[in-house]
Amino acid sequence: MNPRTRSSQLYEQALEHIVGGVNSPSRSFKAVGGGAPVFMANAKGAHFTDVDGNKYIDYLAAYGPIITGHAHPHITEAITRAAQNGILYGTPTELEIQLAMMLKDSIPSLDKVRFVNSGTEAVMSTIRVARAYTKRNKIIKFAGCYHGHSDLVLVAAGSGPSTLGIPDSAGIPTSIAQEVITVPFNNLEALREALEHWSDQIAAVMVEPIVGNFGMVMPAPGFLEGLCKLAHDYGALVIYDEVITAFRFHYGSSQTYAGLDNHDQIMPDLTALGKIIGGGLPIGAYGGRKHIMEQVAPLGPAYQAGTMAGNPASVASGIACLEVLQGEGVYEEMERLAIRLTDGLRESADRHGVAMTINRIRGAFSTHFCDHPVTDYDQAQDTDGEKFASFFRHMLDRGVCLAPSKYEAWFLTTTHVDADIDQTLQAADEALKLVAAGK
Ligand code: PMP
Repeated sequence: MNPRTRSSQLYEQALEHIVGGVNSPSRSFKAVGGGAPVFMANAKGAHFTDVDGNKYIDYLAAYGPIITGHAHPHITEAITRAAQNGILYGTPTELEIQLAMMLKDSIPSLDKVRFVNSGTEAVMSTIRVARAYTKRNKIIKFAGCYHGHSDLVLVAAGSGPSTLGIPDSAGIPTSIAQEVITVPFNNLEALREALEHWSDQIAAVMVEPIVGNFGMVMPAPGFLEGLCKLAHDYGALVIYDEVITAFRFHYGSSQTYAGLDNHDQIMPDLTALGKIIGGGLPIGAYGGRKHIMEQVAPLGPAYQAGTMAGNPASVASGIACLEVLQGEGVYEEMERLAIRLTDGLRESADRHGVAMTINRIRGAFSTHFCDHPVTDYDQAQDTDGEKFASFFRHMLDRGVCLAPSKYEAWFLTTTHVDADIDQTLQAADEALKLVAAGK
C-alpha cells in the first residue's frame, strides 16, 4: 500500500474551500479518529483506486445506491444516451412513466408516485402530504432511524414516551422539534403510549421498516403489523422510509419481502424511496394510495415541486439499474457472498476473542463490536466505537473500504466475486488480531 500522501494533500486543500473538507459529514473520518479521508480517483465494479494508486474492495457502495457495482456498462450507456439527448428539459418525458411503472409493479402500496431529487426530499414530501391529508401536525418516528436532514426528522427522543423531541442539530427551532415524538424501535407499547397521549394530533408514524441506519435491524415479528394497526386505529397514516431498503434485499420493497410475514397487514399509506432507484444519480421518489397522493399539486392543496425532478439522466440510470437487478439469481448471489463473508468474519472474531454481533439481511450486513444482540438504537449505541475505529483503519490499510461509522452496513454488489471475499477475510483476520491486541 502506498502512503496516502496525495489524499492528505487534497484533504488540506479541500478544508480550505469546502466546509469540513467533505460534502456530507458521513464521509469524514471524525467518527473513526479523524484525519484525511481517502480521495478516490476512479472505480470499476466492486473496486476503487485512490489518488495514490491504492486499490480497495468497496463495501460502501456509496451508502447504498451502487448495488450493481461502479460504472456498470448498462447504466453508463443509459446515462450517456440520456446526456446526448439533452440533460434537462423542464417538460415531462416518456421515461419518467416507465420508471414510475417499474416502481408501481414491484411496490404494491404505490398507486401514484412523484419523483424528487433525494431521499431527504422524498421523506419531507411524504410528511407534507400526510399532514395535508390528516389535517394534523405531529409525527412519530423511531430512535436511530435516519430520514434525511430536513428539520422535522432530525429530532432525537425526549426522555419518555409522552415527551416531545429535542433537536438533533443546531438550527432547528424547538417549535419544530415539538411536532415530533421519538419512540424506541421494535417497541409497540411505547408507540401505543405516544399515540394515546397525542391521540388526535398525530399525522403519521414514520419508520424504516427494516432499519439500515443503526446497523441492519429486522423488525421483531408482529412489529410492523402492530405499528400499522395502531397508527390506523388512531387515525394516523403510516409512512415507510424505504430509501435504503427498496430493491436492497430482493426486487421490491419491505412490503413484499419474503423475510416478513402478513404482507397485507404491513402496507403503508405512503412510501419514500431513493438511492438504488437512481442507479447512482441523484433521485428520490414518494408515493402511495391514490386518494392520499391526490393531495399533491397540481391536483391538491399540498405543494411540492422540483426543477431537476424526474430528470432524464437520473431516470434513465434508475431504469437501467432496475433492469440489471431483474437478472436471474442476482440477489441470491449477493446473499451467497454475504454468507461466506459473515461466516468468515465470525470465525476470525471468535478465534481472536473479539466480541462481534453480525446482523445480516441477504446481501447486506452490519458488524457490531459487542456481545449482545442489536435490535434497537440503545443496543447499537452500546457497542465499542474504538474497536470499530481500529478495525476500520486496519481494513483500509489492507485494501478494504468500509463506511467510517460503527452504525453503517456493509453492502455486497452484483460485481463482488469470491476472490474479493477471500481477500477481505484475509484482511479481516489480520485486522481483528490487531484489534484484539489493542492496536
Ligand atoms: N432515508 C433513509 C432511510 C436514508 O438512509 C437516507 C440516507 N442515508 C435518507 C432517507 C436521505 O437520503 P438522501 O441522502 O438521498 O437525502
